[in-house]
Amino acid sequence: MGLFWLRNRFPENHSEAGKNRRNFLKWCLGFLGLSLISDFNSEISIAETQPKKELELISENDPLAKSLKYKHDANAVPASIRVKKFGVEGKEQTCKNCLYYTKKGEVKGEEVGRCNFIVGKYVKVGGWCTSWMKKA
Ligand code: SF4
Repeated sequence: MGLFWLRNRFPENHSEAGKNRRNFLKWCLGFLGLSLISDFNSEISIAETQPKKELELISENDPLAKSLKYKHDANAVPASIRVKKFGVEGKEQTCKNCLYYTKKGEVKGEEVGRCNFIVGKYVKVGGWCTSWMKKA
């Protein structure tokens, strides 16, 4: 249907057949170019409207978290495990003052950050694990 319409728009006649063919080809190329630009723009607008990916906390049940005895709430760790290290009492140790913690944002109003030991997920600022190390 589309091609039939295009052909009628640029009818061939014997005297101007070459010119009509060139116009027809130019028109087709222009139409193709506009289609590609339109597709490209629609992909950009989809990417711009995607919501930012929510920061994901590590689960305390994650095998890595379990192996580090990580807890989101440092106070939930028994005092027998969260012991004095490098002159810092166990009850004062949290991710916030750990060498391996870097603040990254918030989840539900609570600060979270990246831990050098936990790749791809975040820990809570008030968390703790057995790898806690005093910040220099
Ligand atoms: S290593 Fe430090 S930042 Fe990472 S979970 Fe343990 S206490 Fe928190």
